[in-house]
Amino acid sequence: MTLNPKPFSLGRIFGIPIYAHYSWLPVFPFYAWAIASGLLPREAPGLSTVQYWLLGLLTSILLFVSVLVHELAHATMARAEGLGTGNITLYMFGGLASLNGQPAQPSSEFKIAIVGPRRVS
Ligand SMILES: [Zn+2]
Repeated sequence: MTLNPKPFSLGRIFGIPIYAHYSWLPVFPFYAWAIASGLLPREAPGLSTVQYWLLGLLTSILLFVSVLVHELAHATMARAEGLGTGNITLYMFGGLASLNGQPAQPSSEFKIAIVGPRRVS
């Protein structure tokens, strides 16, 4: 028995296989719950419970879509610079685009790194 099962497939985008690690499964509904039951009732009072949950789910989806877009930016720039992308995997706290090989030029590595939009924290 293993405690670290293989990530499961979410499909392909631009031909790049997209996976989710199992650590992502509890986090997705946790974010929705935290937003629906904590953040939104405090910051935007007066909505119904159903509205809070729909907005919580939507926010959680958009959070992971933004992680995916970030990783796709790295992956598609890597492809434009002549590197293949193995896959993209979503994890509990973010994502990872695995590239096939190393960039030949430092400028390629810079471009691949810089296209991932940064979170403002
Ligand atoms: Zn990045």
